[in-house]
Amino acid sequence: MNGELTAQATNAAIDKGVRQFQGVLSGDDLSHAHKLLSLMLPPHGATVVDAGCGIGETARLMADLRPDLRFVLVNADRHQLDLAPRKFKRLLADYCAMPLPDASADVVMFCYALCDDERAELALQEARRVLKPGGVLFMHEPVNVGGGNVALWSAMCSHLRTPAEIGALAGDAGFALDWSGALCGADQFEVLTGREAADQIWRGVASAVFRLVRRCEVTDAFSRHERVALQFSGGRDSTATLYLLRNFWPRMTVYHVDAGDQFPETRAVVARARAEVEAAGGRFEVIRTDVEASRHEFGLPSDLVPADHTPLGRAVAGDALPIVGRYECCARNIMLPMHERMRADGNTLLVRGQRDSDFATPPLRSGQESGGFEVLYPIQAWTGEQVEAYLRGQGLPIADFYPEGVLRASDCMTCTAWWDDGRAQYLRRFHPKQHQVFIARATQVRDAIDRQRAWLTKEMEA
Ligand code: SF4
Repeated sequence: MNGELTAQATNAAIDKGVRQFQGVLSGDDLSHAHKLLSLMLPPHGATVVDAGCGIGETARLMADLRPDLRFVLVNADRHQLDLAPRKFKRLLADYCAMPLPDASADVVMFCYALCDDERAELALQEARRVLKPGGVLFMHEPVNVGGGNVALWSAMCSHLRTPAEIGALAGDAGFALDWSGALCGADQFEVLTGREAADQIWRGVASAVFRLVRRCEVTDAFSRHERVALQFSGGRDSTATLYLLRNFWPRMTVYHVDAGDQFPETRAVVARARAEVEAAGGRFEVIRTDVEASRHEFGLPSDLVPADHTPLGRAVAGDALPIVGRYECCARNIMLPMHERMRADGNTLLVRGQRDSDFATPPLRSGQESGGFEVLYPIQAWTGEQVEAYLRGQGLPIADFYPEGVLRASDCMTCTAWWDDGRAQYLRRFHPKQHQVFIARATQVRDAIDRQRAWLTKEMEA
């Protein structure tokens, strides 16, 4: 239909009180939207793309019922899009080429949008591109259930697909069927065309609903495991990974360690993530450790450990300041408590925000096993720029220290190790008390290293 005809048909329908241009599955318009939502099952806070949105009435009603959902309306027809609620993001675009980033939506829905469109294959491929792993393709479409669709063809030159044809198309596009059913609902068309004509035109046609899931390595990995753990530090990479897997939140437990010296900026990110995960039916566990007690007992962490300051060295060299390697300190206070808890809870799949570009040689790849877990790294191939763009594009929480030049989200504010974090300048500006603590302790560590280093220099210059 060209733009002018679409505008005429749209206005005529609205004049007759029809605002959702689709078969109504249940009662009035609001009940219909409720029925669709009950079949769609969007996760809490989901981004839902309404592809071919009409005048956005279905999205408007759904948003009334589920205010947590964020709708993006896509329509190639300017007149219809102009009539859609302005509170939603509205995109004048073909649903076969949506101006949306990869993996940015939790649900893509087509409601009487594909119908007989010959480009359905392209549209479903595009839906797959914009969906996150495990994202839902939801279709409420008219289907041919009564033979050759002769009546519809002669009335409107329209030839609908059978449910089996739609299922095959979606399968080819990379979706796995979760649920489908053919449900009646031609009431809207009776209003538009009169009962007799509607009976003629829609003979052999039913409204069918398909709920399909975007297949990928993540869905495959989740299908192999009963219990799944996601390690969450509150840093950029783990935040991107967590939200990329929003559709899996009800099936996973998020683990976070607070060692007692956390940036308040990180704590704010963790608080928001926790609230959203729990609202979506996921579990969020915070494991508390005491890094200050560990520093007193085992020593200050450092990127260099002088021999005289190790436990054995101190036994020989006397009462030197205890110093431990950064990996040992992190293992004791962060990694091991988390690992032990995840094992005790029976998890067998471990999801982390590890990226290849952070390593010269990545220690593990997705699908490999380590310490009793299969590991899954959904953003393994992403660059740092992609992570940043993803977080900003999705409006996700980012700790305030990143824009100020801190490179990594340190687990501990006053840590005397991880010298390449770029943390000290930020501490001095925004957390002066913690900066003083850091400087006092780092001075002790540096003095110890300098003393031991001086012996090496002396030997080399002798
Ligand atoms: S961040 Fe620093 S202080 Fe905290 S556990 Fe790791 S090495 Fe220890």
